[in-house]
Amino acid sequence: SIPLGYFGGIGKSAREGILVKGSNFLDALGRATIVAFDKTGTLTKGVFKVTKIETRNGFSEADILNSAALAEAHSNHPIAKAIKDAYGKEINEAQIKEYEEIAGHGVRTKIDSVEVMVGNDRLLHKFGIEHDTCRVKGTVAHVVINGKYAGYIVISDEIKEDAPKAVKELKRLGVKKVVMVTGDNKDVAAEIARQIGLDDFYAELLPEDKVKVIEELEKKKAPNEKIIFVGDGINDAPVLARADVGVAMGALGSDAAIETADIVIMDDKPSKLPRGIKVARKTQRIVW
Ligand code: ADP
Ligand code: MG
Repeated sequence: SIPLGYFGGIGKSAREGILVKGSNFLDALGRATIVAFDKTGTLTKGVFKVTKIETRNGFSEADILNSAALAEAHSNHPIAKAIKDAYGKEINEAQIKEYEEIAGHGVRTKIDSVEVMVGNDRLLHKFGIEHDTCRVKGTVAHVVINGKYAGYIVISDEIKEDAPKAVKELKRLGVKKVVMVTGDNKDVAAEIARQIGLDDFYAELLPEDKVKVIEELEKKKAPNEKIIFVGDGINDAPVLARADVGVAMGALGSDAAIETADIVIMDDKPSKLPRGIKVARKTQRIVW
């Protein structure tokens, strides 16, 4: 049977905007020793803005932006949203003849009779397209038109205001390791990790690589310790399911993530995690 005190703890969490789907998850939260955060939409706002467009091989900025916006029409990824915002015009979806989103890579599409790809280094590598390796402050979305490298779009995101405070608070509560797992490139990841004060980061990961990182961390922990993963659910449902406790951001997050997660943070604030840990520990003291 479930000790009565847990209902109090779950109720208290709920009033703070932290939905805990069972007493076992609240208990595990109180025993968190490793916390792994996703980057985009979790530690950062996930509100990207196009800050630069670089053209190559005779293509124009308009070629790049028009093609990329059409190619990203069906994607919910924050990068796709930024490109569509920058384009700012109505999209005629009838032009999209083929569409494939490749998780952790980008999109591959056919716009009328033109093949358009938008994505990262990994995507271009997969299809053998020669391109710049850019060292820019920001996330890069390369654009390929009919197999030719057309240039790249630089997209920038901002950290959430309370992210550094959340990490500081987690450390104060005795969490041993606070890390970030991200599909984004190493330069962006290192800069964000520095700004937020993370212990470590793992970059350029595919969704299944994020699962492997959690499994590696798990091998090193003691039996009573718990690993918490916090994500927004875009491309991270597998790792949400795999961690001891999967925490999803509720406001920006996908419905699938909210379904898969053990705990949902309703207002998307990372600082709600240390709050939840405090409530969980207080509950443990009452129960035991
Ligand atoms: P994260 O949330 O850590 O950024 P994701 O798995 O969501 O990880 O994305 C990883 C990377 O894959 C992105 O940084 C981007 O380079 C690329 N990517 C994923 N989806 C798209 C898309 N729709 N358009 C362009 N690039 C994409
Ligand atoms: Mg994400």
